[in-house]
Amino acid sequence: MNRRDFLAGTATGLVVGAAGTYAAVKSSATQTAKGPAAITSRTQWRMVTTWPEKFPGLGTGAERLAQRITEMSDGRLTVKVFAAGTMVPALGIFDAVSQGSAEMGHGASYYWQGKSKVFNFFAAVPFGLTANELSAWIHFGGGQELYDEGYARFGLKPFLAGNTGAQMGGWFRKEIRTIEDFKGLKMRMPGLGGEVLRRIGATAENLAGGDIFPALSSGRIDATEWVGPWNDLAFGFYKIAKNYYWPGFHEPGTGIECFVNKAKYDALPRDLQAIVTGACRAEAEAMLGDFNRRNGEALRTLIDTHGVKLQRFPDDVMAAFGKASEEVLAELEGADDLTKRTYQSFRKFRDESIGWSRLADQGYLDMRSRMLRPRT
Ligand code: CA
Repeated sequence: MNRRDFLAGTATGLVVGAAGTYAAVKSSATQTAKGPAAITSRTQWRMVTTWPEKFPGLGTGAERLAQRITEMSDGRLTVKVFAAGTMVPALGIFDAVSQGSAEMGHGASYYWQGKSKVFNFFAAVPFGLTANELSAWIHFGGGQELYDEGYARFGLKPFLAGNTGAQMGGWFRKEIRTIEDFKGLKMRMPGLGGEVLRRIGATAENLAGGDIFPALSSGRIDATEWVGPWNDLAFGFYKIAKNYYWPGFHEPGTGIECFVNKAKYDALPRDLQAIVTGACRAEAEAMLGDFNRRNGEALRTLIDTHGVKLQRFPDDVMAAFGKASEEVLAELEGADDLTKRTYQSFRKFRDESIGWSRLADQGYLDMRSRMLRPRT
């Protein structure tokens, strides 16, 4: 008898708990000659997210993760997704899951940097790690232990569950020729990237996604970053600012996360814990693939259909970004103990990874670009 037949045949013995509860009852049918009485249970969890409903890449990734957990557990753990604002506001999900009013959250850890600067490292920091490197650091370089420690303080268990890949540098009304062009420039850039901009004389603003286009359109801001071609095309920034700069020094591979109320996670049987963990790992890979496939397509549309001018930041501008970024990161050593230890772990990993990535990814990609000469 497979599990599905088993569940169907004993449906009357099962109780589906109210959302958020962990209901376990003995199935009468299990107390037969089949063997010792087994405990079986069905659980429903709510996943609150920072994304609007079906938001490309991120919201759809949350949906795919919920569906994967539900399917892998054959319905023993059913996850229902709530878009931002439908149960709690986007930036209220951390506290909601911490307090247990929802069981899972889906967002990006740098949204919680107001609680501790350490939370930047598990999403993105300026001149930080690529998607591949972030995965390597978290899963094999000690990052997960630090991630766990930071979230355990809030009663949470975190998982890397996606990545946007490399982000773009942003949309500018005017061309950037020297670092002087940033003096007085008003740009939307949240987090530590915004700190870097302030150091080079710009004004950094942190606007929520839906507020960016109106601000750029009215001239309240001169420039903005968002994600990459796929998401940026959808917001229509090309209608206002034609200069699209790369690379995104501030978010070279932004980690997307799923976190679980730790008491609820610890109460799961071991196989369901493994399913949650494995589903997050699988979705981390899937989301990155989704972004990489769609970004390439959207980039061509922006250039060919909308006349966007693709621009690389000048070398002296990149050098100034780099110097200011290292200063901003170094100051984190003076923050709380966990932030300091995390920065040190990150820096050690990055120092080692730079040498290998230069030969492997960068070395190969430079060679391929020279041979095949891409159109962009
Ligand atoms: Ca961004």
